Amino acid sequence: MSKKYHNVMEELVESLVTVQMLGPDFQVFCKCEKCRTDIIALSLNSLPSHYVTTADGRDNVFQRLNTSENLKWVNKRIISAIYLVGKYPKHDE
Ligand SMILES: [Zn+2]
Repeated sequence: MSKKYHNVMEELVESLVTVQMLGPDFQVFCKCEKCRTDIIALSLNSLPSHYVTTADGRDNVFQRLNTSENLKWVNKRIISAIYLVGKYPKHDE
């Protein structure tokens, strides 16, 4: 961890967005950096943050968040963000 504080939810959403965008459901969606960061920011706005300050704290929180029930719930937010950004992309033509 390079910063003094670290949002574990942010880490989780970044990796889940990568997985979703590579998946078969979102082949036709734009994969540019602008759309990707917009999807991540939009998802994070509708999810609780989980800040930690130590590596141990990060591992504990990550384990707590990394359950199939929670991932399903987070993925729902991500999928609505993918659709929203896909409908109103802010990237340059
Ligand atoms: Zn794009």
